[in-house]
Amino acid sequence: MISRQFALSAIIVSFIIGAVGVFLFISQRLERCAAPPFVDPNLLPNARFATPGDVVGLPEGWGRGAGGVEVRGPAVDGQGFDLDGDGRALQLIGIANYALTPPIGVQPGTSYCFTVATLTDSLLRSPTRARLVFEWYDDQGVLRERSVTPWQPVVLWTPERPPTAWTTIAGYARAPQTARILRVRIEPSSDDRIYLDMPRLQRGGHTLPPAQNADVSPPLTIAPWPEGYRAAVAFTFDWETAMGGLIHSRSVDDPLADEDPIQRGMRMRTGVETSMSIFARYNVRATYFATGYNFLMGNREQRRFMNDPVFTWASAANGWRSDRWTNRPWFADDPYGTVATDPAWYFGDQIEPLRAAGHEIQSHTFSHLYGGYADAATWRADIEAWNSVAAERGIGIARALAFPWSSSAGMSDANWDVLEQGGIRAVTRLSDYGPYNLFPLDERGLVRDPHCRWLPGREGRIIACPDFYLTPARAKLAVAQIEQTVAAGGMIDIWSHTEEVTSAAQQAAWEDVVSYTVGRGDVWVAPFSEIAGWQIARMTLNITTLTEPTASTDRGRSTAHRYQVQNTSPYHLVGMMIDLPPDTTDVAINNDIVPREQWQHSGWLRIDLAAGQTVEVTLWPTRSSSR
Ligand SMILES: [Zn+2]
Repeated sequence: MISRQFALSAIIVSFIIGAVGVFLFISQRLERCAAPPFVDPNLLPNARFATPGDVVGLPEGWGRGAGGVEVRGPAVDGQGFDLDGDGRALQLIGIANYALTPPIGVQPGTSYCFTVATLTDSLLRSPTRARLVFEWYDDQGVLRERSVTPWQPVVLWTPERPPTAWTTIAGYARAPQTARILRVRIEPSSDDRIYLDMPRLQRGGHTLPPAQNADVSPPLTIAPWPEGYRAAVAFTFDWETAMGGLIHSRSVDDPLADEDPIQRGMRMRTGVETSMSIFARYNVRATYFATGYNFLMGNREQRRFMNDPVFTWASAANGWRSDRWTNRPWFADDPYGTVATDPAWYFGDQIEPLRAAGHEIQSHTFSHLYGGYADAATWRADIEAWNSVAAERGIGIARALAFPWSSSAGMSDANWDVLEQGGIRAVTRLSDYGPYNLFPLDERGLVRDPHCRWLPGREGRIIACPDFYLTPARAKLAVAQIEQTVAAGGMIDIWSHTEEVTSAAQQAAWEDVVSYTVGRGDVWVAPFSEIAGWQIARMTLNITTLTEPTASTDRGRSTAHRYQVQNTSPYHLVGMMIDLPPDTTDVAINNDIVPREQWQHSGWLRIDLAAGQTVEVTLWPTRSSSR
């Protein structure tokens, strides 16, 4: 017989076990940012993109960086993809673009999580990546803090191999004390088109990737440029033989497309000499972005490069003047001559004079391909071909790249992988078109924020730098751009083709801008990859505050502040300047006291920090300000 009391206890125990089970089930769902049964804690308004907004294609409440973010799907335009069966998903295109959720009210100190299903139908058949940025606004609507997740994979869809599931981009973050409003940005690492569906924002989500505060300032302030310079300027050229863009010219973006490529090739050659003579007068080292045939002394042996490709994308539909190149090998017009017989085709004799004058030669690609149309295999062949012909003239592998035709629009994540694996660490001549444009212009036509920045998805690895195209008509504007760059403490790459330094007016424009820049005295003028390398090193400095005391910490006056400064990059930081607090009375590097006359007047401590080197910096404040 079972006693009544025992039965009651058993019921209560089972009930408790059941309740605990339900509680665990629900909390596990919440910790994964998923909905428990019967209730939907999704805080996101218009999460199904059902209500259209004022901007055509953009759902109500949602935001975007530029065009290319719009609702698509079977129920909208018969195109695109959909996951949850409502016929709608949000398309996101462009490495400079983002989709932004509607604002959501939040409570400080509470954790919030966000998930969204993603898929790419990349034209170049590349999977890609995306990340989340939690933007925290205060009650005045001012952005106070940003928390950023790691980059996460977006699955590739192809008609032959559709994936079994979409991939989820996810993360959580705790609302800071000032936060009242949250918006979540979804950012791509390439121009591969992404579809987003079933976005969800709720409390919890602690098993997801954490988003880290993106705006933490280091414990020591390092000046942006070496030796107290206020800004950096690189003078650079796109330099191509008749084989470069010239015989292949597009009518789009090229005002000289209808001119004879041989004459243009000769001007490209002449421009090397005229620009070098300007730079010699001002002791300036510049950068020449060269195509592959620039390194050849000729091609009598009829070498074939990159497997003699036909670029079917070089079509009238894509902006070329005809369909000539859609069925003709890209190098087919090679006259198989020499520097003497075909000087517009081969510039091999100009490499050594450039190098001897201290100028730098970097990559304008071997084949002058269109970056966003070429696939990863073509990019790989191009980089290998460039490095191999450059080596024949004693030039090291390319570390920097200027895109032909500013053709970065359309670059897949796999293309960028190839550039990174090939050793490219800095890029310029990036697309100036909305969704792809990392450097928007102001109303005067100046780069609004003239700073190099990490290429999205390649933080710490590839830096992207803004440029300004110099023509005689834009010489005054170039000076304004340099002034603005100094005011911003930033960097600008002033460029043209060497072809455009041949007429008297063009040479005068270049001379004026070079003379102005050098004459200022406060601008660091250096080759492009040196400026890029400096910034990579500075932006990846590892500065930590040390707490444990050392023998020399107390000089009998006050407690010291100790920092470890580590250059984690492969670049030397010569002339690095550390800002010293005004109350500093003594400074030591690796426990050696630095004479006061070296830092007291300027308030800056100068250090040369070699690649990979670590130093310990000790600062003693005055007794009055110490505790
Ligand atoms: Zn070019």
